[in-house]
Amino acid sequence: MNIDWSQIETVLLDMDGTLLDLHFDNHFWRHHMPQVYAEQNGVSLQDTYQKLEPMFQSLEGTLDWYCVDYWSQALGVDVMALKREVADRIAYRPNAEAFLKRCVDQVGDVRMVTNGHRKVLNLKIERTQIDQYFNHMVCSHELEHPKEEQEFWHHLQQTSPFDPKKTLFVDDNEAVLNSAAEYGIQHLYSIAKPDSKREREIPSQFPMIESF
Ligand SMILES: [Mg+2]
Repeated sequence: MNIDWSQIETVLLDMDGTLLDLHFDNHFWRHHMPQVYAEQNGVSLQDTYQKLEPMFQSLEGTLDWYCVDYWSQALGVDVMALKREVADRIAYRPNAEAFLKRCVDQVGDVRMVTNGHRKVLNLKIERTQIDQYFNHMVCSHELEHPKEEQEFWHHLQQTSPFDPKKTLFVDDNEAVLNSAAEYGIQHLYSIAKPDSKREREIPSQFPMIESF
């Protein structure tokens, strides 16, 4: 990472896959939740995956996709209760805390911007105390648009102004980075290995951080 900190007034940071290991989320959605769903409904794991896959695909990048209440209702499971069962997997990515401290030291305005639901954010705060590093923690649900949509950035600007030309934004999601680029955010970075237990699936056109 070759950042000229003198050019940066605002740092925007994604949570899952950027500061926290995406392993928790992947494990939950790909293993734990399907397993519980299959047991509860007396269906095979294979049938469960066949039911879930098209649902996941059709909603990816929308607010519903990121909404625990939506999935609790759609699948008839208590998503938050299930997340708590595997919450010991919530963890920082390597050196993420050191990087956060550096950001706070160098830049006054450090904000988390997450598509994660506030209920999940609260669980992650409980496990990591990540809230201690931020002036603002913004959940896209509260701005009524996911980061993939331009409205998110306009609403973020309205809640607390920032200069896109002097903003550093780190996120592991390519669609989100493209959206931020379209809005005019200047300093954009992706993450080489969002999930410590698996290789990155989609390449990035943005510079990728190998290590904080
Ligand atoms: Mg992410």
